[in-house]
Amino acid sequence: MSNIVLLGASGSIGTQTLEVLDLYHEEFCLKAVSVGKNTAFLRELVERYPSLEAVYSIEKDEELAAAHPQLRYFSGEELSELAAWPRTDLVINALVGFVGFLPSLAAIRSGKDLALANKETLVAGGEVIRREMKKYGTKLYPIDSEHSAIWQCLQGNPREDLKRLIITASGGSFRDKTRAELKNVTLEDALKHPTWSMGAKITIDSATMMNKAFEVMEAHYLFDVPYEQIDVLIHPQSIVHSLIEFRDGAQLAQLGLPDMRIPILYALRHPSHAAGVSSESLDLAKVGTLEFRAMDYDRFPFLKAVKRIAPLGGNFGAVLNGANDEAVSLFLQKKISFLDIEKSVFAALSKMEFVSDPDEADIIAAHNFGRDTVARMWN
Ligand code: MG
Repeated sequence: MSNIVLLGASGSIGTQTLEVLDLYHEEFCLKAVSVGKNTAFLRELVERYPSLEAVYSIEKDEELAAAHPQLRYFSGEELSELAAWPRTDLVINALVGFVGFLPSLAAIRSGKDLALANKETLVAGGEVIRREMKKYGTKLYPIDSEHSAIWQCLQGNPREDLKRLIITASGGSFRDKTRAELKNVTLEDALKHPTWSMGAKITIDSATMMNKAFEVMEAHYLFDVPYEQIDVLIHPQSIVHSLIEFRDGAQLAQLGLPDMRIPILYALRHPSHAAGVSSESLDLAKVGTLEFRAMDYDRFPFLKAVKRIAPLGGNFGAVLNGANDEAVSLFLQKKISFLDIEKSVFAALSKMEFVSDPDEADIIAAHNFGRDTVARMWN
């Protein structure tokens, strides 16, 4: 029996994780859970999972706390305390955004393994996370279709034979538009992702290709592969989730229907490919043709910038992420245009002060610098 902490239970990955945990309830016991503002959902969870010992919501639901005095109730700034809840083995971080960074760090520092759907943990804090994981000897399991694919392909193969990783990209909502055509696209257009149904922030990040830039950084930290050995390939159908190539030229790919419950289940029960989440098979005869295109790095400057600057490490990722957070938020509020997202992020990067060996305070400062710089630009 594995004792689980689930962070971000009410989101898209969170609810799908609960489905997977329910399927294998004799193997996993939910001990601690967090939501953001959705305390109605937290109430449901408390009823559904008598095993819960600790809960978190941003604002404390006093009625819920009074009705369940046996529960330890965290709120406000206490999310990291929930992540470090004692006598648990695995923290599943399904939080969205930079808010996921410190709880990940708390999980590692309390000796727990981490199943990670929160990109910002590695994008912003990869340098710190990698250092702390070495120190505490904990493990990291990806919950992202591309990284799960790479992880699956790597199983049982000698690492020294690995030549490169090839991350596939659907291309996002605007993959067929030229840069000139991007000038007048609307928020509504950007929110229509062709293959995956996801939250608004990540759908916009897919349209700007920032999501793929983040995934390149995640792959670097997860698999310890240098940036020059990580390539991106456009694959509009989202069937081939990613590939790896060996020194002899052999390539392995992982294919499947776009269903996030599959990488979630794999993170929990690897190296087993356990049954249960979906009975539907991918029918390649029906698909007929798999389509691939070279990534156009001039069309998507975020990806180009990350390939060039991310190898420096340091606090770059935290500034990048903070600036992008603010820019996407302004776009979602219709305060700036789609191309202003890029303009804002590059402006923040041009003003940043590089810190080469950051600690968590440096990461937080860099994130805030990115956010504030973009916010000031449009005020
Ligand atoms: Mg992905």
